Amino acid sequence: MKHKITLIPGDGIGPELTQATVKVIEATGADIKWDEVNAGAEVYQKEGTVLPQRVIDSLNKNKIGIKGPITTPVGTGFRSVNVAMRKIFNLYACLRPCKSYAGVRSRYKDIDLVVVRENTEDLYAGIEFEKDSDEAKDLIDFIKNKKDAQIREDSGISIKPISVTGTEKIVRFAFEYAKKNNRKKVTGVHKANIMKYTDGLFLQVFREVASRYPEIESEDRIVDNMCMQLVQKPELYDVMVLPNLYGDIISDLAAGLVGGLGVAPGGNIGDEIALFEPTHGSAPKYKGQDKANPTAMMLSGVLMLRHIGEGDRADLLESAIAANIEEGKYVTYDMKEDRDDPAAVGTRQYASAIVDKIEGLK
Ligand code: NAD
Repeated sequence: MKHKITLIPGDGIGPELTQATVKVIEATGADIKWDEVNAGAEVYQKEGTVLPQRVIDSLNKNKIGIKGPITTPVGTGFRSVNVAMRKIFNLYACLRPCKSYAGVRSRYKDIDLVVVRENTEDLYAGIEFEKDSDEAKDLIDFIKNKKDAQIREDSGISIKPISVTGTEKIVRFAFEYAKKNNRKKVTGVHKANIMKYTDGLFLQVFREVASRYPEIESEDRIVDNMCMQLVQKPELYDVMVLPNLYGDIISDLAAGLVGGLGVAPGGNIGDEIALFEPTHGSAPKYKGQDKANPTAMMLSGVLMLRHIGEGDRADLLESAIAANIEEGKYVTYDMKEDRDDPAAVGTRQYASAIVDKIEGLK
C-alpha cells in the first residue's frame, strides 16, 4: 500500500459521509490503507474521553488524516475536539477553497477563491478574562496605570496575540500553496489601520514574505473593504491569507458565494501533519438517515489526494463530482430546487453515481 491514512468517521452524519467518501476515493484507484480510529460524542459515552490517545497516535504515525464532523458534547472540558486536534498537532493553516460548480444553486458563477486562515493565534488563542474576575480587575488596573487608558470596570477581556513567527508561517504557506497550485495572486487581509501592533505586524510580515515570491502578485486589503469587494467583485480575488478571526468570517462568506456549507471542503495543515474535513458540522437531526450531502467531505478528499501527490486522481474525483452536480439527477435533497423533491437521492446513491462518473471518465 502506498499511502496510510488515518480515517476518523466522527459522529452524527459523519460515519455515512465517511463511507461515501472512502468509496469514491477508492474508485479513483488511489492506493490507500485506511487506519480507522474514532473520536467524538459516541466515543465519549463509552470511554469517557472525546479524543482517545489512539487517534493521536494514529495521526502522529500516518501524518495524513481525513475526518467526518464531530459533535462537541457540552460539559466535557473541551471547547471542541476539532480545536483540540488543531492545537495538539499544530495545524496552523486552515485551507478553505471555495469554487463554483455548475448546478449548485448560488447567486454567483465562476468563483474560484482559496481562503488561508491562520489557526493558532489572534482572538482565538483562548486567552480570556471573565468580567469581575480578579485577573480581569488586575488587568484593568495595569492598563490604567501603564497606558493611561480606560477599560470599563464591568468588562470581560479577550487578548489578541499575533506573532512574527505565526504570521511568517501562514503567509509562507499561502504563497507556497499559490506556487504549487498555479495561482496568480495572494491578498493579505488585515485591519492594520486600527490595530497597528497586531494587524500592522501581520501586514509588515506579509509584505516581507511576499517580496520573496516575485513571480506571484501580492496586494493587501482592509478586512471590511474585503467583505464588500468579495460580494461585488469576487472574480478579482484568488488566494487570500488572513489572521484567525477574519479568516473564520471570510471563509463562511466565501462559502456562501459558492452555495453554502454543503459544498465547502477544508483542510487543517501543519508542517508535518494534515487533517482534512468538511466545513459543516455533524447535523445530528439527519444522523443515520442516508440523507446528508457528502459533497463537502468528498471535496475534502480531493484536497487530501492533491496534498499527498495524487493530483491526477484528485482531478478525476473533482471532475466526477462536478459532472454529477451539473447533471443534477442523482443529488441529495439540499441540491434540488425544491428541498422536498422526491427525486432526491440519499448519501449512498449519490456516492454510487459519482463512482459511475469516475468509471466513465477513466
Ligand atoms: P451543522 O453544520 O451540523 O448544521 C447546520 C445546518 O446545515 C443544519 O440545518 C444541518 O442539518 C445542515 N447540514 C449540515 N451539513 C449538512 C450536509 N452534509 N447535508 C445536508 N445538510 C447539512 O452545524 P451545527 O448544527 O451548528 O452543529 C452541529 C454539531 O456539529 C455541533 O456539536 C458542532 O459543535 C459540531 N461542528 C463540528 C464541526 C467539525 O467537526 N469540524 C464543525 C462545525 C460544527
